Amino acid sequence: MNKNNIYNLAVSGVQKLIPYTPGKPIEELERELGLTQIIKLASNENPLGPGKKALAAIQATLKDLALYPDGNGFNLKRALADKYAVEMGQITLGNGSNEILELVARAFLTPDLEVVFSQHAFAVYPLVTQAVGATAVVAPALNYGHDLNAMLQRVTEKTRLVFIANPNNPTGTLLSHADLESFIGALPATCVCVLDEAYCEFVGDNSADISIGWLNLFPNLLITRTFSKAYGLAGLRIGYGLSSPELADILNRVRQPFNNNMLALAAAEAALSDTEHLQNTIAVNTQGMQLITDGFKKLGLEWIPSAGNFVLVDLKQPAMPIYEALLRKGVIVRPVGVYELPNHLRITIGTAAENELFLQALTEVLSGHV
Ligand SMILES: *Cc1c(COP(=O)(O)O)cnc(C)c1O
Repeated sequence: MNKNNIYNLAVSGVQKLIPYTPGKPIEELERELGLTQIIKLASNENPLGPGKKALAAIQATLKDLALYPDGNGFNLKRALADKYAVEMGQITLGNGSNEILELVARAFLTPDLEVVFSQHAFAVYPLVTQAVGATAVVAPALNYGHDLNAMLQRVTEKTRLVFIANPNNPTGTLLSHADLESFIGALPATCVCVLDEAYCEFVGDNSADISIGWLNLFPNLLITRTFSKAYGLAGLRIGYGLSSPELADILNRVRQPFNNNMLALAAAEAALSDTEHLQNTIAVNTQGMQLITDGFKKLGLEWIPSAGNFVLVDLKQPAMPIYEALLRKGVIVRPVGVYELPNHLRITIGTAAENELFLQALTEVLSGHV
């Protein structure tokens, strides 16, 4: 058999699927260019790293690694239930919140159903939709953000899922609670709404609590969150979903029995109680956002105001050559051409020192000193 024919055996959505491109790893750039001083501001990771409590919990757990983890994640679920005043049965733990996005697609979609999301929305939504052969219906963005009216207009009896990221990645745009609540309320009962709040900790106006109140109103609402961003545990892969117990029960049926590893469960539980680390993280982000956007202003560049820990800058010229010139200076940022934003770069807010190095490198690149 011709080895290419194996492709024809894959389900049709997978045949056409283009895999997600992650931010460039530091080691890869080291190998390619032989650079040593590399900073990565490409994947919205926490520049402070994990907190002390999470690290101590990981240390204390190492001795148990021969055992399977708790497949129900009891301790972490209890900590989350206490923190957010929900029932443990409303929580789904995932191998990153990405896994929750995949579980909901697998549990609810078939090839004859549709999924509505916005232009410039998180790249994983089209991927999980296509992998199960469902049809993606993309609503045009409004000022780079979600146009909820345009999305609602595209919801039909075939629409089984709607994805919304708030704040959105990569644009950093934020919807108001009032607009979101009326949008979710206007969805038909046949449509599940996934509200992806990967960056809610950075928003600051009790945002992380308000949407949870909607769980009592909307049995078709799934809120997803993660320990990868504000909590600094991206490498461990742990996130969670909050929903009605019924929706959580459905997701639980399709997940792997041990989808969360033992170190991740222990670290996430400890991280939840580390309010000091979270506050430091938010303070570093607020200061860094100011520094970087001040730098853009000095360079005469426009940016999209962001509610997350990253910012999209408009270079008004193709971004790839600038991205590559920055790489040669040891600075990894994120091109967003796959999001239909070929002239923008997404910059994760780093430490003060990293932000300075990035601005210095960008200044040199834009003035032609490449
Ligand atoms: C980073 C991110 C996620 C998922 O991250 P995990 O590491 O899988 O938890 C989900 N949604 C958005 C919008 C993100 O930016």
